[in-house]
Amino acid sequence: RHVEPVYRWREDFPVLKQQVYGKPLVYLDNAATSQKPAAVIETERRYYEEYNANVHRGVHALSQKATDAYEAAREKVARFLNARSAREIVFVRGCTEGVNLVAQSYGRAILKPGDEILITAMEHHSNIVPWQIVCRETGAVLKVAPINDAGELVFEAFEKLLSERTKIVAAVHVSNALGTINPVERIVERAHAVGAKVLLDGAQAAPHVPVDVQALDCDFYAFSGHKLYGPTGIGVLYGKEALLEAMPPYQGGGDMIKVVTFEKTLYNDLPYKFEAGTPHIAGAVGLGAALDYVAGIGIETIAAHEHALLQYATEAVSGIKGLRLVGTARRKAGILSFVMEGVHPHDIGTILDHQGVAIRAGHHCAMPVMDRYRVPATARASFALYNTREDVDALVAGLRKVQEVFG
Ligand code: PMP
Repeated sequence: RHVEPVYRWREDFPVLKQQVYGKPLVYLDNAATSQKPAAVIETERRYYEEYNANVHRGVHALSQKATDAYEAAREKVARFLNARSAREIVFVRGCTEGVNLVAQSYGRAILKPGDEILITAMEHHSNIVPWQIVCRETGAVLKVAPINDAGELVFEAFEKLLSERTKIVAAVHVSNALGTINPVERIVERAHAVGAKVLLDGAQAAPHVPVDVQALDCDFYAFSGHKLYGPTGIGVLYGKEALLEAMPPYQGGGDMIKVVTFEKTLYNDLPYKFEAGTPHIAGAVGLGAALDYVAGIGIETIAAHEHALLQYATEAVSGIKGLRLVGTARRKAGILSFVMEGVHPHDIGTILDHQGVAIRAGHHCAMPVMDRYRVPATARASFALYNTREDVDALVAGLRKVQEVFG
């Protein structure tokens, strides 16, 4: 008998085999963080059990093994993003730290009063606030390209905001609040035409759509491991080698130096110049295992599976009276953001929770998006490779219950 692959994939995720309030767990909060396959958990456990040591400095066998595993993980990330070289891969805490690194190192070094940074109206706070900080420090000005009612970037308006004053364009690849997939190739091309550098926030893209930084030609790309079936506390900043080479360090400390005297310090080569202090070794090794896991299934296969689920779910919720989707872009990844007439999103979340269905309710760290749609918050169901049609059915049944309670 043919078993759909998703039921095999589910077996790889121990956390899914539990009940919540006596109901099977239906985990639909993957945009916040995804669950971890046993291979990732096992890889981290083995790291601590078998070869925990500090990297890049020990002369002993364990340190060499830890260093090899840490650097092998970097190679896996380079392959995952199709970077030219592992020197372009900087391990950071997450997407947030990746953006802050670029704002503080690249931005602070090049921005002059009157220069402009262009973002979009659908950014996560982590791709807004770091730019506001660097604007205050340098006198640069933050510009925001608008979105339409469907939650798509208004491309003509974006183009109009570009000028020779634009030094940095920072845009989300996939919106966490709306699900919109941005036309990032065109964004990069138009931005480069005026001489601006481009950072893409890939937090919601890397787990759900294929990413090729050479094809995109973006200058920086940031994502978090924990949304990609990897550990928390580890993420990646990709940067073009020539840019990273020219940038000053973000933080000072051990590992990022070659020679230190009290008079001056010679910085280390890439990417170590940007990795001050003992890194999250176990996290990087775990992320490497997560990338292996994803590669084993295939990101294209995952994208197709999630896209089918999104279509199924979009149709299913369209039958629920008073429910309105927030974000109806033509190109969307597996995120369903919605509001229901007369019900606060937090009440939706609570009622669903008691049915075992985990979603998120809130502003999704994208308050300007909530303002744009004049809602205080939305309820958001977000998919991962292990979600099934039955999960969507449970969501819809839960939403009917919400309707009963408030109807
Ligand atoms: N950007 C987007 C689009 C996100 O969804 C998130 C996480 N919600 C972030 C950035 C920040 O990621 P992290 O908190 O892992 O640094």
